[in-house]
Amino acid sequence: MRVVFLGAPGVGKGTQAERIAVQYRVAKISTGDLLREAVRMRTALGLEAKSFMDQGKLVPDAVVIGLVQEKLADLSCAAGFVLDGFPRTVSQAEELGKALASKAMALDRVVNFQVSREDVVRRLSGRRSCPKCQATFHVDFAKPKADGVCDRCGESLVQRSDDQRGAIETRLKVYDEQTAPLVRYYDDRKLLSPVDASGAVDVVFQHLSQVLAPYQMR
Ligand code: AMP
Repeated sequence: MRVVFLGAPGVGKGTQAERIAVQYRVAKISTGDLLREAVRMRTALGLEAKSFMDQGKLVPDAVVIGLVQEKLADLSCAAGFVLDGFPRTVSQAEELGKALASKAMALDRVVNFQVSREDVVRRLSGRRSCPKCQATFHVDFAKPKADGVCDRCGESLVQRSDDQRGAIETRLKVYDEQTAPLVRYYDDRKLLSPVDASGAVDVVFQHLSQVLAPYQMR
């Protein structure tokens, strides 16, 4: 299974990627998580990425493409992968195509997660994240068991700097300008499957499983 999850920030790609990775035993490659980890570890790459991320802007293509190539080279991707948050520009999509072709691989499917803009803003502004294990919660829809504490690892939850109002607006604008053209790009290549992602996590997972069922055994 080699799939890309496409959609605006806040549509639930990360949550579903996590579940698909567990269910189908494929690698989840989330560029947002990889970049946040680099920032947390204060690596050179993390320091370069931080100011772009805090403002809700895209990290330069070369940085992100390098990260993904490294992960794809990793053996754990052999059984398949789900890419969450990558590609986000046409040039990233082209580089991904080249990297896969060089390994005689191709994408099976690109899932386009669809949620209204209003819901996306509500989901992002109420999101609380664990800086340690990256688990996410929501102040109304997915409350942690203890207020402000990660259910999974006990760390204090935070609001990501890019989940604050100003950064949300920038991220949605960046999505419209730089990422939305990928819908057409992958539709032209007959790879796109839309999924209504407005419902509860379990409901969306069911839709998604139907779309991905043909690709689970290779
Ligand atoms: P996410 O968790 O996917 O919303 O990503 C958080 C932030 O990481 C984004 O707002 C960007 O600053 C950066 N980022 C993640 N993936 C990419 C990508 N494919 N290209 C450029 N920047 C990215």
